[in-house]
Amino acid sequence: MSKPRILLVYTGGTIGMGINERTGALEPLRFSHFLQAMPEMELLGVEVDVIQFDPPIDSCEMDPKLWAHLAGIIRENYDRYDGFVVLHGTDTMAYTASALSFMLRHLTKPVILTGSQLPIGMLRTDGKENVITGIELAALKNAEGRAVVPEVCIYFNGSLLRGNRSTKINADGFEAFDSLNYPHLCDAGVEFTFHTHHIFTPDWDKPLEVNPEMDPNVLVFSLIPGIQPSLVDHLLGIPHLRGIVMRTYGSGNAPHLEWMERLLDRAARRNVVIVNVSQCLRGSVQMDRYEAGLHLLNKGVISGQDCTVEAAATKLMHLSALYPNDVEQVRAHMTRSLAGELTEKCP
Ligand code: ASP
Repeated sequence: MSKPRILLVYTGGTIGMGINERTGALEPLRFSHFLQAMPEMELLGVEVDVIQFDPPIDSCEMDPKLWAHLAGIIRENYDRYDGFVVLHGTDTMAYTASALSFMLRHLTKPVILTGSQLPIGMLRTDGKENVITGIELAALKNAEGRAVVPEVCIYFNGSLLRGNRSTKINADGFEAFDSLNYPHLCDAGVEFTFHTHHIFTPDWDKPLEVNPEMDPNVLVFSLIPGIQPSLVDHLLGIPHLRGIVMRTYGSGNAPHLEWMERLLDRAARRNVVIVNVSQCLRGSVQMDRYEAGLHLLNKGVISGQDCTVEAAATKLMHLSALYPNDVEQVRAHMTRSLAGELTEKCP
């Protein structure tokens, strides 16, 4: 039997960084350094080819153009590989995973993002386990010869998570990611324990469709007690603004004040889509639970339900690009699951 083939895309991030002797800070290094630190790659029963970003980046520099570049790499190589592993900095990994999940429609192969908290060249690195297990998971097939995890995922520290449900939860610990509103897809202990029921089932017969365009005229803002109308007014006046992810309190609540109503009316007149995502890390927005949420619903604010901020923001960018002149389509699709990013309520 031939070995599974995996394409490893090295974008940068801590995993491949080294210390700059002059500044003492970590900076991205080329992939050859990475390979020198990881001779184990040779021992994997998998054929791995590598593409690298030139230059490799700190993931703080990730942007929609680079997401499109990544989606293009996957499209061009889709038929030649069984799966894809993207080495990525942890800081914006959840945004990239969310963006890719919307760009890659009808995906039937694994796209697994991983990285590390300590560079691969360091003695206590978490990078080796993350990369090796990430590759193993991307190569796995079931008895019918289909990918076991045909979706965009993040693998980190023993947990395989749906990409568009993931959030970076820890700047220091090895357990850097979690999907607080969705079960893990697999727990990788001594053995792999797949939670098959929670893994996305694609339409296996549909060909991959790549929609790499993103409209970046989207912003995220958080309510705080005492928030000033003039600041919100300024945000809503930004030219070309297409959407706002508004981080509200609890189950989607905001102060019921006259100026807030006025500004929401103004946003609606400008066709700016406002999506309500809670500041709570767990649970769902339910705007009809309190009067403090109901007034938002009545003004046309859309419920982000149990979406992460990362998924809501990238989905807004994606839909705004797909429907540049049709705000009603953007609004309608925001409430539905496109790639398993939210839990649709039973009618
Ligand atoms: N600043 C780094 C990055 O996101 C952090 C990391 O990789 O963990 O590229």
